[in-house]
Amino acid sequence: MEIRKKQPSVPGATETFTGHVWYDVIAQGNPPSRLRVNAVHFAPGAHSAWHRHANGQTLHVVEGFGLVQSRGEKVVEIRPGDTIVTPAGEWHWHGATPDNFMTHLAMWEGLAEGQQGPETEWGEHVTDEYPGR
Ligand code: MN
Repeated sequence: MEIRKKQPSVPGATETFTGHVWYDVIAQGNPPSRLRVNAVHFAPGAHSAWHRHANGQTLHVVEGFGLVQSRGEKVVEIRPGDTIVTPAGEWHWHGATPDNFMTHLAMWEGLAEGQQGPETEWGEHVTDEYPGR
């Protein structure tokens, strides 16, 4: 067993996030485990750019109010206790509502041995789709 002490939070890169986003790495499995878990904290109005995950992603909202959207679909509000499952390769974004903080756990798997990357592919920033913009 290993008890890992809290590490400093990491700011989200401006290439991939709009607004103030910080994350904490919760788990990063050693191979053959491909486990990835981050707690991601979004300030009001902050959100990711469009992106997709090679092996999909599961989000679990633990605090606040957020928004999520898949390409070509409506923006959906997400609340504490909600779990969002994004299939492999589906373009989407996630973040806080304009007026509230939001924290979610982000859970995904790294690339399998021999699987072509990238683990997460980033696209353009969210513009017209974000409420009030
Ligand atoms: Mn995602």
